[in-house]
Amino acid sequence: PFGDAEAERQVRSDDRAHVFHSWSAQAKIDPLPIAAGEGSTFWDYEGNAYLDFSSQLVNLNLGHQHPDLVAAIQQQAGRLATVQPSMANDVRGELARRIAEVAPGTLNKVFFTNGGADANEYAVRLARRVTGRRKVLSMYRSYHGGTSTAIALTGDPRRWANEPSDPSVAHFFGPYPYRSAFHSTSPEEETQRALEHLENVIVLEGAGTIAALIAETVVGTNGVLVPPPGYLAGVRELCDRYGIVYIADEVMVGFGRVGEWFAVDAFDVVPDLITFAKGVNSGYVPLGGVVISDAIAAQFDDVAFQGGLTYSGHPLACAAGVATFDVFDRDGILDRVRDLGSRVVEPELRSWLERHPSLGEVRGRGLFWALELVRDRETREPLVPFNAAGPDAAPMAEVAAACKAAGVWPFTHFNRVHVAPPLVIGEDELRRGLAAIDAALDVADRYARA
Ligand code: PLP
Repeated sequence: PFGDAEAERQVRSDDRAHVFHSWSAQAKIDPLPIAAGEGSTFWDYEGNAYLDFSSQLVNLNLGHQHPDLVAAIQQQAGRLATVQPSMANDVRGELARRIAEVAPGTLNKVFFTNGGADANEYAVRLARRVTGRRKVLSMYRSYHGGTSTAIALTGDPRRWANEPSDPSVAHFFGPYPYRSAFHSTSPEEETQRALEHLENVIVLEGAGTIAALIAETVVGTNGVLVPPPGYLAGVRELCDRYGIVYIADEVMVGFGRVGEWFAVDAFDVVPDLITFAKGVNSGYVPLGGVVISDAIAAQFDDVAFQGGLTYSGHPLACAAGVATFDVFDRDGILDRVRDLGSRVVEPELRSWLERHPSLGEVRGRGLFWALELVRDRETREPLVPFNAAGPDAAPMAEVAAACKAAGVWPFTHFNRVHVAPPLVIGEDELRRGLAAIDAALDVADRYARA
């Protein structure tokens, strides 16, 4: 369709007239019509190519139009396109088995959902059923999804407009060494103080009222916040001590983003429940789920689990999930992510600290990194204010525009640029995309006090 101005016009007019978009003032957006995608690149109708450094919404782990995933979906569609959840199905069973094989500890059963938000809804419901308690603790600076409980758990401004929401959610501060809520001066101190704070929250909220604690293993959209050493082990220990179910939200970071099947493996902790979506099949067909420990699953051996979805474990989605496991195994995706992350991305981004006064901090792991942009390195004043919109957000909009003009589609949030390309990105593409972001930071530097 490249160069087909009439096709492009039709896409735009149908979209503007009839598609109601997420998280947007409908009259103030101008969605880019996408004509095609392949690997780490997508094209608009004019034929402009963009390297997708945001993996769509950090879900496109195996890139666009991966031939193995496309073939798996096509074959499954030709064989059995749908089957309801109370029947057994080969690809659903195989995907559940393969997830259980790579999940830590005794997490051996999978409840499939349609995406990440409903995975978190169901994880909370399981925790409430098994504990007989209702309250859930979650972090400020988190995102857990757009549905009712998931948005209540969310610790970012997207919750505000949806309040009052679930009243049985209480928020706490997680670790964030660069902007410590605890005035700590080292990662070790941050861990210790963040855990002291969490224990205080548990005690003051009433340990006996708390069903679950949910945490993104590496906080995603709210900043690629990698937990400092010992923090998640401390969370596990507090949950054990107070009888709280520990839910790890791995919707964004599971399935290879940080070089592990599940990110908890990098921190040696075993949660009671893990929620996943996105990377499980790169979003080719909507799929999410909850991986459940034996101890929790056993509570429902003789008592019915009250929950379900018509499309739970949809065969087209599960076939794409099985193909994802095959590609990861055959192509050594996890090793690739660790190698590209530590050999290419990390040294490159760190070298920019010497050249860009607007770069406050670089942090991340695998193929998941954040560049924290500031006006002043001493005070750490962010390049744009928290939750900035309109003219206040202009400097970040200019950085994003510079990336796009250079053919790179960036992920930006508040004062940060995230680096989250598909895990299959070629090394040359990766270096080219990084060079474009490097150049775009010159725009941010103009706002920074040297
Ligand atoms: N949890 C995390 C950590 C996420 O990043 C997201 C989506 O970005 C969700 C949950 C919600 O997933 P979904 O949009 O599939 O409902």
